[in-house]
Amino acid sequence: MTDSKPLDLVIIGGGINGAGIAADASGRGLAVALYEMNDLASATSSASTKLIHGGLRYLENYEFALVRKSLQEREVLLAKAPHIIRPLALRLPHRQFLRPKWMIRLGLFLYDFLGKRVTLPRSRKISFSQDGPLQASFKDGFEYYDAKVDDSRLVILNARQAQDNGAAIHTRMECVSAIATGGVWELVFLNHLTGQQSKIHARAVVNATGPWVSQLLSGSFSQADTHQITLVKGCHIIVPNLYSSSEAYFLQNDDGRVVFVIPYAQDFTLIGTTEVNFQGDPASAVISDQEVDYLIDVVNTHFKKTLTKQDVVHHFAGVRPLVGAENGENTKSAVAGKISRDYRLHLNIDEAPLVSVYGGKITTYRLLAEQTMALLKPFFTQMTDDWTEQAALPGGDFSDVTSLRVKMIADYPWMPAKILERWLESYGSLIPQLINTAQAVADFGVHFGHGLYQQEVDYLKECEWALTPEDILWRRSKLGLIFSSRECKNLQDYLQQGLQYSNDNRLHQTA
Ligand SMILES: Cc1cc2nc3c(=O)[nH]c(=O)nc-3n(C[C@H](O)[C@H](O)[C@H](O)COP(=O)(O)OP(=O)(O)OC[C@H]3O[C@@H](n4cnc5c(N)ncnc54)[C@H](O)[C@@H]3O)c2cc1C
Repeated sequence: MTDSKPLDLVIIGGGINGAGIAADASGRGLAVALYEMNDLASATSSASTKLIHGGLRYLENYEFALVRKSLQEREVLLAKAPHIIRPLALRLPHRQFLRPKWMIRLGLFLYDFLGKRVTLPRSRKISFSQDGPLQASFKDGFEYYDAKVDDSRLVILNARQAQDNGAAIHTRMECVSAIATGGVWELVFLNHLTGQQSKIHARAVVNATGPWVSQLLSGSFSQADTHQITLVKGCHIIVPNLYSSSEAYFLQNDDGRVVFVIPYAQDFTLIGTTEVNFQGDPASAVISDQEVDYLIDVVNTHFKKTLTKQDVVHHFAGVRPLVGAENGENTKSAVAGKISRDYRLHLNIDEAPLVSVYGGKITTYRLLAEQTMALLKPFFTQMTDDWTEQAALPGGDFSDVTSLRVKMIADYPWMPAKILERWLESYGSLIPQLINTAQAVADFGVHFGHGLYQQEVDYLKECEWALTPEDILWRRSKLGLIFSSRECKNLQDYLQQGLQYSNDNRLHQTA
């Protein structure tokens, strides 16, 4: 299959950076398509610590510019997507023999004032109550604020915004070759579902393939990569709620690293991250036994509740490319924690415009997209100005969750509270679109378990590119944490074959 007229911009990679660039570029009037070889957010962008943060720890590496821009973005993103990004209080227990109090206080002072802080409270010194979750030896510490994000939904909402602006979003399509002729890229994509290949033409390309950035350049584009990148793996474990309150913890470990403990998906606690150099295919990264032990040890040094490996209900690994300078600065031998988390953009115009994205954080994706468009501006003079800072993401056009909750309860008094709460955190003001014409839960169709009904599954298929149980249970929601294998199988059957349901809402296969 071959297209006719070249697109303005093709983006390869459907993580947060690719989706953010697609949303930004399409909103400026460019003809845009995004291609992702797997599901949206299937790589690093669903394996983060899920913080929208300045990065308190980066102050130790004197990364003031990165912390400042991240803190500014924190406020921008809280306003753009108040459904999936919410303020988070973090408590930092003081440990006598680690960082001295004056140093932490200075760091938090800078953190409070380096960036614009509009909605979040400033940091403060606190004492820990003996009734709290920490061991009695932790008497005092500090509390500061950042935000937590549903990282994979942030990607999907950016892709939706791009589609609303006219972009085409293609999943399960891998870029396998690229050549430029007469200043136009000819790209070949392999469809992983059909095995067929298609050719697409574009005036410019963005390589937003995250940890695959060098591989795509040297493979499909046959270009030497001038950047030194180091792949670093970070892992998280998930356990049933360690404690019942809503604050997170910032734990300082003896090795100088920090580990976050964050309330997660209503009934769970997320713990991470580790940090080890990685080689090989980023898709094959998994947590090791040593990493599980490491995370459990840090928690057991701080909390009253003792964890064992048996408490781990889920774990995940993500790989990030950390980047040194072009041609020279050697990051291969550097300690991962000391290499900058900031991103680099590289524009190559030898054949036709190609921007490669190196590194970055979820927190800075919007700025990264804006800067990518600034690099491409000379090639698209019709492009309109920056616009994303003030624009809400789909479902985020409301100012406070409490008022939205009150309105939804008034409009849909029959909605079960637990489903409504999950939908508020996932879909925000798009809830009426999901409910559509339903007048009662009975109209939602087949119940797959734990409040997931056919109505939502169909919406995710039609509006959010979901194809498999994994897409729905781990990236569009976190219901995978509580679904049994039988419930997963029922969902899989429905997605694969199409099932009908009768008035008793039991599954009936159509064919
Ligand atoms: C352990 C860990 C914790 C982190 N925690 C945080 C945090 O709390 N806060 C924060 O702000 N940042 C955090 N980050 C950083 C953040 O997760 C990354 O910066 C971000 O997810 C990178 O997004 P990306 O779009 O560049 O890459 P990815 O999300 O990896 O997306 C790249 C995509 O490209 C696709 N692709 C690759 N090759 C091809 C091809 N040939 N054709 C088509 N598609 C292709 C892949 O399938 C993939 O989906 C963390 C990172 C790690 C590793």
